[in-house]
Amino acid sequence: MRYTGRFAPSPTGPLHAGSLVAALASWLDARAAGGRWLVRIEDVDTPRCVPGADQAILRQLAQCGLLPDAPPVWQSTRVALYRRALDHLVADGLAYPCGCSRSDIAAALAAQGLGRARHAAARYPGTCRHGLNGKAPRAWRLRTDICKPNTAPALDKPAAAAINTVAKILHWNDRRLGPQAQDVDAAVGDFVLLRADGLWAYQLAVVVDDADQGVSDVVRGEDLTDNTARQILLQRALGLPTPRYLHTPLVRGANGEKLSKQNGAAALDTAQPLRALAAAARVLGLPAAAPGAAVPEALAAWVRAWPGALYNPAP
Ligand code: GLU
Repeated sequence: MRYTGRFAPSPTGPLHAGSLVAALASWLDARAAGGRWLVRIEDVDTPRCVPGADQAILRQLAQCGLLPDAPPVWQSTRVALYRRALDHLVADGLAYPCGCSRSDIAAALAAQGLGRARHAAARYPGTCRHGLNGKAPRAWRLRTDICKPNTAPALDKPAAAAINTVAKILHWNDRRLGPQAQDVDAAVGDFVLLRADGLWAYQLAVVVDDADQGVSDVVRGEDLTDNTARQILLQRALGLPTPRYLHTPLVRGANGEKLSKQNGAAALDTAQPLRALAAAARVLGLPAAAPGAAVPEALAAWVRAWPGALYNPAP
């Protein structure tokens, strides 16, 4: 499969030092592999999107010399693909409507004596798996209990019939972090595909788009590592290929917390692109740019240094 990488920012604000690390890493990985690099604007969560942030991000990337090999795509123009994927899952008995409000879920967890455990509170207890019991449908969820984590779904028999043969732990490998495993049903439960507010969930949109765009390699920030098992489970449920994954180190602020738009990370000053890129390159364990190098030369040197860089990060 031809190498295709992507950078998939949510337009909730301009790039910050942390998001540039992910952008640079995915660009370098694609270039070092002689592959293609795409940019996808993940604007499905419209209440969190900031008008103009998409153009600001594209401008910042261009100032840093990180130019995609095809015109960027916006998820908001691709909802027909997400609808088709959900219809497919419903037809296979792998997705169902859920009528629970937040307080219904809290009450169901409390009834199981689980309300106070943080990990348990995050897990949907599966109330509507077997019917809405008169409630109106609000969201659509994946049946994580019957999705097969380690093989493609059997196409010739109803998914439910396979329930007892499912090995529940999903195993995957991260190119930097090594072997990973998660029982999605136990850890997360039946996660949302289409939200109660009518918006498509990140998990479904990202899986559909990565497959539709032929993405072979996902390179993104380590804060997203925990989503990967859910995404692979969905790929298996939809009969889609699984890309390779590489999660890059996070940039931490002075308080030790990861930089994010949510905790007020400053927008990146790309008027001085080399300075911004050099800081990102340092996080990735790459050598300093040669004195006097311009952006294209610095990028070319980092492409050459990229293989193995992440396994030998700078102190
Ligand atoms: N849109 C997500 C974000 O900006 C990233 C999605 C991904 O790379 O899978 O956090």
